[in-house]
Amino acid sequence: MSLWPRLIVQREKIAYNAAHVVSLCRQWNIGVYGVAKGACANEDIVRIMVENGCEGIADSRIENLYRLRKEMCLPVPIMMLRPPMMSEIPEVVELCDSSVVSMIETIQAIDAECSLQKKRHNVLLMIDLGDLREGIWPDELEQIASVLKKCRYIDCLGVGVNFGCFGGVLPSRKKLETLGSLKKKLEEYLECSVPLCSGGATSSLFLLDDGTMPSCVNSLRIGEAILLGTDSSGGKTFPYLRRNTIFLEAEVIEVKRKPSVPLGTIAADAFGDIPVFVDKGVRLRALAAIGKQDARIDALLPCDKGIEILGASSDHMVLDVEECDRKLCVGDKIRFSVKYGALLALTTSPYVSIHVTE
Ligand SMILES: *Cc1c(COP(=O)(O)O)cnc(C)c1O
Repeated sequence: MSLWPRLIVQREKIAYNAAHVVSLCRQWNIGVYGVAKGACANEDIVRIMVENGCEGIADSRIENLYRLRKEMCLPVPIMMLRPPMMSEIPEVVELCDSSVVSMIETIQAIDAECSLQKKRHNVLLMIDLGDLREGIWPDELEQIASVLKKCRYIDCLGVGVNFGCFGGVLPSRKKLETLGSLKKKLEEYLECSVPLCSGGATSSLFLLDDGTMPSCVNSLRIGEAILLGTDSSGGKTFPYLRRNTIFLEAEVIEVKRKPSVPLGTIAADAFGDIPVFVDKGVRLRALAAIGKQDARIDALLPCDKGIEILGASSDHMVLDVEECDRKLCVGDKIRFSVKYGALLALTTSPYVSIHVTE
């Protein structure tokens, strides 16, 4: 594989974030599941999460879960973080200790598969408190509990909730107190206690900062805060976490002066969008060997002052470098800081290598 484009992962910063998030949560009696999907379950990053106190690792893709289980021999439980597809239940039961669930059919299929594989499986019942992605509606609780009670091979881990992913709904003390009371109700229906009240993801950390996290919450599933020290959905920052943990480097393949407006009739670009141009005259521009196939371009930010991303096609990025202090040449590398949306695709692209610093 070619060396560039490549991601530079700064081990110390991610380790710092993981340790800090874990110790902050511990002060509130909250355990942390490290969420690996943002970095496509990169082995170094997963190990950093485990070494710094994450009590489990979660991911939503079978291929990642396969590597977590078969290649990494992790000393912590592995969770399937998306309600499993019916078509992947055999792999989920084989590879994972637990799954999130929201459908009766899925729960029953997991139980049947466990019976075949002679295994037990834990489920975390997701409850939709308004974000409108996965989860049961609270009035389904009694019916689902009666199904869980009949399962012979399934243990209920507890209840979980997700925020800020589809509806953009933010977590709040009130919503998490509701989750806590639903956990109690579930325990009454099941006539046994369940361990976890899993109160969300990175965006729920703010309730620790302002002291409004209700005591019923005892687990969080954290990806972005550890990986990047940021929170895309809430848009707030964590002053106590390290940012700029991961950089992208792309190589310059052309540097030329060109007009800033295309010549000729403008129709749609390769993605069906009609581009808009501002005439700034002839400008010094660079092409970098990276594109939309590898990353969400608007989630990248050049580190050099005076470099602006003008756009990209599938495998070329066009940059205005007129005001860059550095004299750029073919073969030079340009650095970008990456947001979560870019990191997801970059770590998944087979064309992007990953270098972890010591
Ligand atoms: C992705 C995901 C998370 C982790 O979210 P971050 O914002 O990266 O912390 C947690 N829970 C579920 C269900 C997810 O899909």
